[in-house]
Formats: sequence, structure tokens, C-alpha cells
Amino acid sequence: MVQESKDVWVYAEHENGELTRPTLEVLSAARKVADKLGQNVVAVIIGSKLDQLLESLIHYGADKVLCCDDPKLSHYLSLPYTSVLMRMVDAGRPNSFLFIAGEIGRDLAPRFAYRAKTGLATDNIELLVEDFYQASTKTNFKNLLIQVRPDFATRVARIHTPVCRPQVATVRPGNFSPAQKDSQRRGKIIHFDLPENEDDLAAKILSVKPIPKSSVDLAGAQCIVSLGLGILKDGNGNPRDPSEGYALGKKLAETISDKWGLVTAIGASRGLIYAELKELSGLITEDHQIGQTGTTVSPEVYIALGIRGSVQHRVGMLRSKRVVAVNVDNDAPMLTIAHYPIVGDLYEEVPKMIKEIEKG
Ligand SMILES: Cc1cc2nc3c(=O)[nH]c(=O)nc-3n(C[C@H](O)[C@H](O)[C@H](O)COP(=O)(O)OP(=O)(O)OC[C@H]3O[C@@H](n4cnc5c(N)ncnc54)[C@H](O)[C@@H]3O)c2cc1C
Repeated sequence: MVQESKDVWVYAEHENGELTRPTLEVLSAARKVADKLGQNVVAVIIGSKLDQLLESLIHYGADKVLCCDDPKLSHYLSLPYTSVLMRMVDAGRPNSFLFIAGEIGRDLAPRFAYRAKTGLATDNIELLVEDFYQASTKTNFKNLLIQVRPDFATRVARIHTPVCRPQVATVRPGNFSPAQKDSQRRGKIIHFDLPENEDDLAAKILSVKPIPKSSVDLAGAQCIVSLGLGILKDGNGNPRDPSEGYALGKKLAETISDKWGLVTAIGASRGLIYAELKELSGLITEDHQIGQTGTTVSPEVYIALGIRGSVQHRVGMLRSKRVVAVNVDNDAPMLTIAHYPIVGDLYEEVPKMIKEIEKG
């Protein structure tokens, strides 16, 4: 028996008095799901001094906002935040509850799911609404939220949770585009108090040190030139100095930026990063990693140089508008998904590409 529930809830995150971009992405994902289910989007926001964010949540797609605004909540703390969520859920059980797969969501979503006695599907890259036939009980479930995520090996898994509600999911940043802001949208705002439980507030934040921002802006790049372990060898399998491959990729990115006016960035496969090559020390770091355990990107152009295209890499770049791949191996999966597959040695092909772009 499916538990009674309604609406798609979103846990909204904010930083320095603004909603974060992943929050806008998840709101747009929730809107898509809620429209298919004929339900409302409910944004949940917790913190301090939230007044100016509440209408914004409605402008970006929420029909209703549940808010708990208290100076004791000015920084994220696991226990009081979970208690606030439980108080909100007691007032009405959601059909699904989406969190951002980031530091807060990865802590809060499992705590919430445990207390709400339901399951959790983490790191989703797509959310679908479909009917589902469960063979073991011979039951047809209508309009089920299907949670799609890469598994730990080589596949993309579709997770069905037909009975327990809410269906709780974390959504990886970079997979949905934020909706256009619509300042005409109207919605309802409901305030909740912080439950009085001193145990929840036993942990205190004494000071906050911001993590230095990464110098690599993969999410903001319009064109990413991404390097893989293929830079270690030429087309005949002879070893190459990886700093040459890096310089070639960098030159390609700079030429594209000069000639086409695109914002470019250098990305990398986890294979290349984990190789910890001294020649690339400080040039290729974990901040450059694209894929399941790195950043998800969706640039106008993604250029994969010497990257095989494992599923873990592909799930991080498959929303790129145009993919160019250079690989010596005709069977490399990256070539099969590329709009412009180039079978060849990157040390020969990239200089040709640079020359062509320079010609204009
Ligand atoms: C849980 C888990 C999470 C993971 N997360 C990620 C992730 O987030 N991101 C990620 O990238 N990987 C991830 N991986 C690793 C992933 O499975 C692959 O091992 C990795 O992506 C391989 O990197 P690569 O394609 O650079 O190297 P390789 O697999 O070694 O491929 C190198 C490619 O270069 C080609 N080549 C060789 N020489 C040349 C040349 N001269 N010119 C052109 N082509 C050439 C080869 O034909 C080959 O296709 C993860 C793995 C696991 C198990």
C-alpha cells in the first residue's frame, strides 16, 4: 500500500544572503516532476535572516515555501535542522523530497530519510516520472518518480521506490538548468518555529573559515578542453612528456577563446588526476575532474583528448551541447557519443585543429 503523500519538496540552500545555483537547478527539476504528477513544489528553507529569499523561491518555481528563520540556525547544524524538517513533515508528508548532492544535502538527506522511515537515492543525474510494474507483487504503480544515477561500476541505475513516501533523493549539481525568474509568480509562505530541544543545540559553531574558491571554473566555461591518460603516449604507443600534452590542450583552449570568444577551461579524467604525474603538479588537480566523483558540466563544446569515455566520466559531461573527441582507438566509448569523433593521435590532430581555428 503506497503511503499517503503529496507534493514535491525541495531543500533550498543559500549562501551570503542568496539562493545557490544548485538550489535553482533542483527547484527547476522539482517543477518538472511536479508538473508531470499534477502536484505542487514546496521549497523548504532554514537559516537566519531569510526574508528576502522567500519570494525568490516562488519566483523560481515554488508554489509554497516552508521557512524556519531563527538566529540559532544561522549556520548549518545536523540535529536542529533535521528536527525542523521533521516538524514540517509532520504537518504534511511529501510525495518526494529533493536535496542537493553537496555537503549539506549529503548529511541532511540520510538523517531525514532515516527519521521519516523511508529510503534515499543519492547522486541522481535525472528524475523521470513513469509507470512501473513490480513483477514480484504483480502491481502496476502509476506515475512513479524514477531516480536515475550512475552505479559504482559501469552502468546507470534506475531506482524505483514504489511504496515508501516520501521518495528522498539527492540531485547532483550541473544536471538541470535553472528556470527563468518570474517575478509575477505568487505563492504561500508558512513559518515554523525551531523545536525546543536543547540536546539538538549541544554542538555550537565557534568560528567559520571559508574554503578558498577553486581557480578552475568548470561550471562557468562555455568550452572545456579535457585531458585523459592518452596524453602519456603518442599514436604509436611511444611515451610522451605529459606537460607537452597539457601545453597542447591549453593552446587549443586559448585559441578557441581568442578566435571564437568562448570562456574556456581545462578539465581532466580521474585517470589522469590519479596518476599524480609530477610534470602536471599544480596544473591538473582534483578541481579539474569531470565525472561521477568530480564536477558535472554542460558546456557548449566539450573536447575530450585521449579520454576513453568510461561511464563515470560520461555522466559528468553528457549534457554538453557538442562533443569533440580525439582518440586512437576506434572503439573508445567517447568516440561513439561524440558529435565530431576524430580517430587519431592527439599529438597530430590537435595542432591541425589549432591551425584551422587560427585561420578563422
Ligand atoms: C566509483 C568510481 C568513480 C569514478 N569517477 C570518475 C570520474 O568522476 N571521472 C573520471 O574521469 N573517471 C572516474 N572513474 C574512473 C574511470 O572508470 C576511468 O578509469 C577513467 O575515467 C579513465 O581515464 P582515461 O579515460 O583518461 O584513461 P584510459 O582509460 O587509460 O583511456 C585513455 C584513452 O586514451 C586513448 N589514447 C592513448 N593515446 C592516445 C593518443 N596519443 N591520442 C589520442 N588518444 C589516445 C586510448 O585509446 C584510451 O581510450 C571512476 C571510477 C570509479 C570506480
